[in-house]
Amino acid sequence: MSETLTPPQAGTVATPETAPGVKRLFIKTYGCQMNVYDSERMADVLRPLGYAPTDTAEGADFVILNTCHIREKAAEKVYSELGKLREMKESRSGAMTIAVAGCVAQAEGEEIMRRQPAVDLVVGPQAYHQLPELLTRTARARGERIGADFAADEKFDSLPEARGINGPTAFLTVQEGCDKFCSFCVVPYTRGAEWSRPAEAVLAEAGGLAAQGVRELTLLGQNVNAYDGAGPDGSVWTLARLARALAEIEGIDRIRYTTSHPNDMADDLIAAHAELPHLMPYLHLPVQSGSDRILRLMNRKHGRQKYIDLIGRIREARPDMALSGDFIVGFPGETDRDFEDTLDLVRQVNYASAFSFMYSPRPGTPAAGIGTQVPADVSLTRLHALQVLLLEQQVAFNKAQVGKTLDVLFEKKGRHGRQAIGRSPYLQSVHAEDADHLIGQIVPVEIVSGQQNSLTGRLLQEKAA
Ligand code: SF4
Repeated sequence: MSETLTPPQAGTVATPETAPGVKRLFIKTYGCQMNVYDSERMADVLRPLGYAPTDTAEGADFVILNTCHIREKAAEKVYSELGKLREMKESRSGAMTIAVAGCVAQAEGEEIMRRQPAVDLVVGPQAYHQLPELLTRTARARGERIGADFAADEKFDSLPEARGINGPTAFLTVQEGCDKFCSFCVVPYTRGAEWSRPAEAVLAEAGGLAAQGVRELTLLGQNVNAYDGAGPDGSVWTLARLARALAEIEGIDRIRYTTSHPNDMADDLIAAHAELPHLMPYLHLPVQSGSDRILRLMNRKHGRQKYIDLIGRIREARPDMALSGDFIVGFPGETDRDFEDTLDLVRQVNYASAFSFMYSPRPGTPAAGIGTQVPADVSLTRLHALQVLLLEQQVAFNKAQVGKTLDVLFEKKGRHGRQAIGRSPYLQSVHAEDADHLIGQIVPVEIVSGQQNSLTGRLLQEKAA
């Protein structure tokens, strides 16, 4: 649930500065990794039309805001960003096309067109493969709104095979939508029902990424571990089966997946963590609250003990598993006792990292209608206490790596000299000096210090894995 600003990777596409006539595309991404993937795919769809990514809206020919509807603030930020874009567009006598994509577009398309006349088109998460056609139509008449009228398979079938990847890691969407209907969440309404891509389509995309030098895949889905795509043999494949097949692809060394629901953490997936070295020992498994009463009100469909027992089974299979989670504090009706239960669960699980938020009602969700809202100052105090505890655990986890040797996949250059930055198996950011020639390689690194958000390492040897 972190918020990112991610212009799509330029890949090998010539920059607008070096290629006269190339149209400049700026995509601002809000919300989760699925939106990051979608933004990359929008750039892929638009590349044949001559659009090349740029890292600023200033001077861009086409600006897309790929939005998130999870929290109220995220939606409001979109309107404020649109205000700035409108001024930019006016200063260029209208020579800029503005689109709103993603979940806010899906949920509030008409409202967006009404509130911000500078917007040329609105496109929902299942319809961005239609962007080229929409652009042509928009040149004739403003005001296109394309929502959920497309099936997810139609979108994936229409996307270009080639991806503009630049680096050794890539996101790969395998599942979309959610049937869980947690009472606070808009996702089932904006992204629709659970749907899994056929295994063959996923394997083909992964094979293409491996051929482009990708070594680490992060499989994405709103409920990724509910994956149940059709296998090539006509049977239904689970996420574990898919991961095992992906691990067979030459060049793919690491596999991650996010986000998971505790109820879909199947036995074969837990077993795969014990048996498949490609599956990295990091798992984002949100629980949201440690109180049974609040979990019921949230409609999470599991209790605290079930979650704690599940973590025990996962750690039995993979003892070094680093856990991550999401927490909501101040859910309607949450008492001090409920909150204490959350702190207690956090102490029992011991997280390597976590995301925590104050509850904010989302229109149209059942929780928004619960009358007993927690006062903001109480929620804020609780959030602070939870974040202090989670941060302590995160720092302790990072410091516990000091003296160990971890395999690091170097992804990009650092800020200074010949520094390079990569990821440990536990998804920690690791930087090391004199390593810029190792980008794209997996290298053993001795960890010499652990900070709040990163590790510092020293190269042990030149020979990469
Ligand atoms: S599992 Fe719950 S929180 Fe996650 S996307 Fe589905 S409804 Fe939202």
